[in-house]
Amino acid sequence: MSNRTFTMIKPDATSKGYTGAILDQIIKEGYSVKAMKWTKLTTEQAGLFYDIHRERPFFGELVNFMSSGPIVAAILEKENAVEDFRTLIGATNPANAAEGTIRKNFAASIGENAVHGSDSDENAQIEGDFFFSKLERF
Ligand code: GDP
Repeated sequence: MSNRTFTMIKPDATSKGYTGAILDQIIKEGYSVKAMKWTKLTTEQAGLFYDIHRERPFFGELVNFMSSGPIVAAILEKENAVEDFRTLIGATNPANAAEGTIRKNFAASIGENAVHGSDSDENAQIEGDFFFSKLERF
């Protein structure tokens, strides 16, 4: 277990001014920030990041949404980070997300759902490597 996960605060949440509140909730849950950047994906970069979903009917919508505005990308560390962070963010569709989760608190819809969280240690590593060099992790 790596005890690290990768997250993005998505364009819906950054544009609504939720960045600070979401980071506050994450840090209060005991995660420490190992890398962080404010950036914006091109459609090509968003397509590469979500390559696993390329055949899904919502792929075009997802890529357009994820490249529509700035995001915050971050590597977070805590014991059992991947699994606990998935619990903290809640279900993909905020309508099904538990009370108090980040998606329940801040997400609008299944597509525009405020945050990303890696679903395995392996993907946390791959996704962190997508955004950060060794020099950008502390
Ligand atoms: P996650 O692991 O909870 O983020 O969910 P998935 O890996 O299943 O999907 C990745 C992302 O694709 C989600 O977080 C949503 O932003 C988006 N997504 C998933 N399902 C749908 C859908 O039915 N419609 C749209 N527009 N986007 C979706």
